[in-house]
Amino acid sequence: MVNAYLVEEEDGLTLVDAMLPRAHKKILAAAETLGAPIRRILLTHAHGDHIGSLDALAAALPDAEVLISARDARFLAKDMSLDPDEPQEKLRGGYPGAKTRPTRTIAPGERVGSLEAHAAPGHTPGQLAFLDTRDRTLYAADTYSTLGGAATTAKANPRFPLPAMATWHKPTALATARAMRALDPARLAPGHGKVVEAPAAAMDRAIARGA
Ligand SMILES: [Zn+2]
Repeated sequence: MVNAYLVEEEDGLTLVDAMLPRAHKKILAAAETLGAPIRRILLTHAHGDHIGSLDALAAALPDAEVLISARDARFLAKDMSLDPDEPQEKLRGGYPGAKTRPTRTIAPGERVGSLEAHAAPGHTPGQLAFLDTRDRTLYAADTYSTLGGAATTAKANPRFPLPAMATWHKPTALATARAMRALDPARLAPGHGKVVEAPAAAMDRAIARGA
């Protein structure tokens, strides 16, 4: 139901997202199988199913960097305020916060190893997606879900409505889905559901259904 990814870099691994609580052992075991240390914990957004095991992982990996956008870092610290220039919509989905603070915040355009950060607001105000510049895999966070078929989070997929139900501002989410499509990824690696190879047609259909 919930994905995390271990991205190989020359100095070790970047973990993309921290799943639900109590997933840390599984994540650490997966890194051990790969035989490389987790150097960075990179969070796409501050929902509870993406940061659930952050505190346990940070405790187990005291030297790892913890990275998230400055905007969603506020939710980690339980600051639930909206900025005056943001749509004044109700925040949706669970924001449990965490004890762990980011060691550094990431802005769109910055690189984390081979991963290029892209603004992906809508699902949350400060969500980021990450494009691997080596093979154009898009770590798409909750811009798309592929569980029950590829869908944007701008409109509920009846077979898996949760990501859309947890989306803050649907028009922004739809604009972000279009921006992700324009990146022309070779592979779509969503927060929920299977990885999709050559996802252009699936993304186009999802955008058409989400509009
Ligand atoms: Zn989410």
